[in-house]
Amino acid sequence: MEPRRVSFWLAFVCCSSGTAGAIRFHESCSCRMNGAAPLAYALRTDVGRARDHNEDAGAADLANRLFVVCDGMGGAAAGEIASSMAARAFLAQARQMGFDRSPRHRLEKAVLAANSGVYEEALHDARLRGMGTTLVGLELSEDSREAWVVNVGDSRCYRWRGRALQLLTEDHSWVAEQVRHGFMTQLEASQSPLRNVITRAVGSQPRVEPDVSVHDVQPGDVYLLCSDGLLRELSEEEMKEVLRAESQDLMRCADALVDAANDAGGGDNITVLLVRV
Ligand code: CA
Repeated sequence: MEPRRVSFWLAFVCCSSGTAGAIRFHESCSCRMNGAAPLAYALRTDVGRARDHNEDAGAADLANRLFVVCDGMGGAAAGEIASSMAARAFLAQARQMGFDRSPRHRLEKAVLAANSGVYEEALHDARLRGMGTTLVGLELSEDSREAWVVNVGDSRCYRWRGRALQLLTEDHSWVAEQVRHGFMTQLEASQSPLRNVITRAVGSQPRVEPDVSVHDVQPGDVYLLCSDGLLRELSEEEMKEVLRAESQDLMRCADALVDAANDAGGGDNITVLLVRV
């Protein structure tokens, strides 16, 4: 069993190709590069109402059509180090591999690189022992026909299409396993004191097994990457209400989702990354 997580935030953005940008809490951007289909995104991360620091990290590399959210765990500053390091390493490795390889191979390798980076950092510093992070990543193909999703842990990717919200990832958590095996209902899982226990994490073991999936894309789709700080406060029905009202303006929508989670208690750090095709 991987360590339990506690959470905060840190976000960085790479808006132009190849450069790691400044640390940001709030960012939106849109562009069309080299004839590729246009994309827009908005990123917001928030400490919430109960924690005193943010262990979440969100990042976007718009030029390379890559997006990532991580939710770190570990004592002292370890969680925020794990999440920001994993997000950076994920984007850097994916870029370095170039785009002549299959997205599945690239995303798997990018997660393995993030895992090695966090794990080795912890080996060299006793204060960071046991740190780890969730990771959910998204790559949109240049023609915007395919959305490739990779995940470890319980941060999630949803697709908002028309008025339908579809979950594209499967949580790696103890309660999700109980639900899958029929030992617990979704409601019981959402109320369980063990809902924070994740069964896979980036960086807490020498190896990690990411899940990768591919999904067809339609113009107007909005992809939502988020940490569990959003999910523990809002039901999917409540998320849909916000998306119905605000999804035309991604930054307003990200703000509205975070504000709704805070209004509902804000018991954990909250990170929302929205991408419109
Ligand atoms: Ca969290």
